[in-house]
Amino acid sequence: MTTQQSHGWAAYVGVGSNLESPREQVEQAISAIAQMEGCFLVAKSSLYRSEPMGQVDQADFINAVVAVQTVLDPRTLLAKLQGIEQDQGRVRDGEHWGPRTLDLDLLMHGSSVIDEPGLTLPHPGIALRNFVLLPFAEIASDVVIPELTDVATLARKIGTSNPAIEKLAQ
Ligand code: ATP
Ligand code: CA
Ligand code: CA
Repeated sequence: MTTQQSHGWAAYVGVGSNLESPREQVEQAISAIAQMEGCFLVAKSSLYRSEPMGQVDQADFINAVVAVQTVLDPRTLLAKLQGIEQDQGRVRDGEHWGPRTLDLDLLMHGSSVIDEPGLTLPHPGIALRNFVLLPFAEIASDVVIPELTDVATLARKIGTSNPAIEKLAQ
């Protein structure tokens, strides 16, 4: 194990896009995370295609999850992830679950449990979303989400139909 890997926290980031070449947006975001100072990219999942939640008259999403080892605290890491969203043209129009070029959700950061304005950890959507759990289980099935259970157990329960999701050929 490198020095970099043995410091800091394990964190997991959900990546999603459904605008302007979503596969490329997701790949570009993963590259940007890998190049981020204070972060070491440990693993990345396959890409998945999922139908939108909420507002359904929008394009399908491409989703992935990445694992990083980071010396950045949760707020600093989230701010940097939001910077990558901005760099890739994310427009915040206040529409929840609407179309976007890039969405980076901080799913989990070490064993942190936080419920503050602007930052909830673990991310509250994890246990309900197959497009988070299926890629997450690919790279971190044994990880126990604080105040929940392990990722594999959650992924086994979630199913592939609501929303409809498929793993893409690499
Ligand atoms: P959801 O959070 O349900 O997936 P969303 O991704 O569409 O919805 P956004 O509009 O991207 O929501 O973010 C809304 C706010 O959520 C952001 O301003 C951010 O501060 C806040 N937030 C709180 N906890 C987190 C977290 N763990 N990861 C990312 N954003 C978070
Ligand atoms: Ca999200
Ligand atoms: Ca988000």
